[in-house]
Amino acid sequence: AKWVYTFGGGKAEGHAGDRDRLGGKGANLAEMCNLGLPVPPGLTIVTDACNSYFENDRAMPDGLREQVREGIRRMEEITGRTFGDTTRPLLLSVRSGARASMPGMMDTVLNLGLNDQSVHALGHDAGDARFAWDSYRRFIQMYGDVVMGVDHEVFEEIPEDEKGRLGHEQDTELSAVEWQHVISRYKEAIEEVLGTPFPQDPEVQLWGAIGAVFSSWMNPRAITYRHLHGIPAGWGTAVNVQAMVFGNLGNSSATGVAFTRNPSTGESELYGEFLVNAQGEDVVAGIRTPQNITEAARIASGSDKPSLEKLMPEAFAEFEAICNKLERHYRDMQDLEFTIERGKLWMLQTRSGKRTAKAALKIAVDMAEQGLISKEEAVARIDPASLDQLLHPTIDPQARRDIIGSGLPASPGAATGEIVFTSEEAVQAVKEGRKVILVRVETSPEDIHGMHAAQGILTTRGGMTSHAAVVARGMGTPCVSGAGNIRVDPRNELLIAASVTLKKGDVITIDGSSGQVLKGEIPMLQPELSGDFGRIMEWADASRRMTVRTNAETPADARAARSFGAEGIGLCRTEHMFFEDDRINVMREMILAEDEAGRRAALAKLLPMQRSDFIELFSIMHGLPVTIRLLDPPLHEFLPKTDEEIADVAAVLSIDPSELRQRVDALHEFNPMLGHRGCRLAISYPEIAEMQARAIFEAAVEAAHETGAAVVPEIMVPLVGLRSELDYVKERIETVAKEVIGEAGIGIDYLVGTMIELPRAALRAGVIAEAADFFSFGTNDLTQTTFGISRDDAAPFLATYQQKGIIEQDPFVSLDFEGVGELIMIAAERGRRTKNGLKLGICGEHGGDPASIRFCEEAGLDYVSCSPFRVPIARLAAAQAAI
Ligand code: ADP
Ligand code: MG
Ligand code: MG
Repeated sequence: AKWVYTFGGGKAEGHAGDRDRLGGKGANLAEMCNLGLPVPPGLTIVTDACNSYFENDRAMPDGLREQVREGIRRMEEITGRTFGDTTRPLLLSVRSGARASMPGMMDTVLNLGLNDQSVHALGHDAGDARFAWDSYRRFIQMYGDVVMGVDHEVFEEIPEDEKGRLGHEQDTELSAVEWQHVISRYKEAIEEVLGTPFPQDPEVQLWGAIGAVFSSWMNPRAITYRHLHGIPAGWGTAVNVQAMVFGNLGNSSATGVAFTRNPSTGESELYGEFLVNAQGEDVVAGIRTPQNITEAARIASGSDKPSLEKLMPEAFAEFEAICNKLERHYRDMQDLEFTIERGKLWMLQTRSGKRTAKAALKIAVDMAEQGLISKEEAVARIDPASLDQLLHPTIDPQARRDIIGSGLPASPGAATGEIVFTSEEAVQAVKEGRKVILVRVETSPEDIHGMHAAQGILTTRGGMTSHAAVVARGMGTPCVSGAGNIRVDPRNELLIAASVTLKKGDVITIDGSSGQVLKGEIPMLQPELSGDFGRIMEWADASRRMTVRTNAETPADARAARSFGAEGIGLCRTEHMFFEDDRINVMREMILAEDEAGRRAALAKLLPMQRSDFIELFSIMHGLPVTIRLLDPPLHEFLPKTDEEIADVAAVLSIDPSELRQRVDALHEFNPMLGHRGCRLAISYPEIAEMQARAIFEAAVEAAHETGAAVVPEIMVPLVGLRSELDYVKERIETVAKEVIGEAGIGIDYLVGTMIELPRAALRAGVIAEAADFFSFGTNDLTQTTFGISRDDAAPFLATYQQKGIIEQDPFVSLDFEGVGELIMIAAERGRRTKNGLKLGICGEHGGDPASIRFCEEAGLDYVSCSPFRVPIARLAAAQAAI
């Protein structure tokens, strides 16, 4: 098998399209080589080698060693250096690189090949002994941590200790001899912890590092990241072995990271950071404060440290030209890593840059307007789920801001919460229903859980490309990073600002759009939905086939949904309207009535309330379709449960508490979700459905009068399994319709349809369609009944299922295409065979899930319906599914 693909010297065996085998990093290194860009030569071990490694008990696949050797021989030819040599040693970087980029999840080992001999040769060759020792200590540090598994703190303490002893502030102040001292302490520490010495043989080092990259694919951080991002374990990671270039070779050397556009705002300007005389991840690790790449950015940030543009104009000009070339080539904003070795520029990585939702919109719109991409591509490029970020509140500009500090605007949106200092506390607090801001010096991949739980993230160190910033942007969580004027004292659980000291549990607000940190809770504004957002939505709407409705029963939700572009209501759950204070007692009166006459008396009181609800919804929707579902839940949900509640309700309804207790007990069901609910209620107590139908038709008449827009109510009968159930309820509805319409003297069109939420209904859809004007797939119940899994009890064991790999996704979140999906397909097909053009929709949670929406497009549904805040997401996802 071909395990190894080489690149360098102006050509490469792979190319950008080889992501699956070469991983993103390897594929793009190959592509950059093919484009003639300066890339140090190297080789990529394919992802399949990683899979083979795990399938064979962590043994390297046959033939891999020979192929790697051959690839290194090519690198030796190109560089004129030799791996393992003690006069002109070739040093290597060993880098992971999966198909999807997993920032911070895998670790890179630099300067591999150094040992007690070759470190002298390196120093001699470069004419810089300090550089050689600096490289060697970095190598031991990374290798000791990543490959040998020695706690990284060991390697942080030793130089801190030396610096303290010598009165140095910065790493760059340590001399060759001083680094040499650090190195002997490193080696001693490793031997002390592990009982084995640091390996001197470059060949051993190399295979140790390759094995460690493979193994890192299965480390807990990587597994967590994959779970959060839906990346299959079977992808594996590639390994890139590359000749080193040195950004730590004195003051004419540097290393940096850049974006071809501003990843926060989307502004078309080269944006990045670098450090002189530094290597590897120094820039992102927040060890020193990085410098700006362009002069414009330096001026804007008010920094007094020179920009790359000023400091190394030639390398800068070349870099700028490469940025333009790569952006045009990939037709997308790029995230680049580079190193300058004694004035010579080297490209180490390019990939599509992560960006905020706001930036993504701006970049897509700008690029479409520049003609770089089409409008459809612009629409296709926006991750629908990311729109959530734009729907975040921002701080009201009128509000008084009690600013206690500031940092970088690392991830937009504002958030308020209690201060916590550890990820564990964040997770715990959120479990208890509290909102928190995670406050850290800086974050690391171990903090992923806490970052997810927190409303916002505040760090006191690190730049725009620090771990906290990158991860927060990806999650859409507001973040302020590098707030240098705030100090964190985690031991005493204090946040110390110039003007005030706050403790754990105190409330702060962060503004990830301005970088401000504020005391207390601040009034917020709802987001602006015009501009680039509006353009993309307009283009999406033009490509979309399905319509998007909302699930709403309150006027506030209905209005919000309209402002987000909902084209009607797909599900109005009438029971929610009965839970309001004064109504619930009338509802209880109805449920507890002894006979039909008693029920009708109570229903007569409910009628005007329902009617006014519907008039308001119809008016807000102004002629758009409104689907109203008849009462669905088991009746005992409306009844009191505890003795205390029973006593209260008995007093209000002036009945005897013990009698009430008996009635409540009588209505108890062992399996309420499969019990007396849905259309079964309408069959037992048709007067309930009649009252609801009357309220709907009277409201339609009234709203048609008021708004002048035709109202076409769609009445939906829940939980039908038999056609005869639908027939029975439908007849009641039609009788009421005739009466109301006759009295009003105006024509009202209406539809009567059913939810398809039982497997039997899906299978008998052909027959049910004879009686139904529309189907709406109630995928929450359909998932529940197809799996035979109670949605309310499933969370704990579904989590176990996911951990154990029994299921990839929670079927209540993302539709189970295979099972539930097949039932939908069957029902759609059989229903439409009976009734050509039968209207089909979906109204479960899945109606707002992009993957499920794609399925709905394939199934040929007419509309999806989702919660108001997901409407923009659904509009975009529906467009993408149609493109
Ligand atoms: P990540 O996936 O975390 O970005 P990389 O493999 O890109 O890890 O490596 C991180 C950093 O290590 C790079 O940005 C670069 O600064 C440094 N690096 C990697 N390979 C080389 C190399 N061949 N020469 C010099 N520096 C390198
Ligand atoms: Mg890394
Ligand atoms: Mg990188």
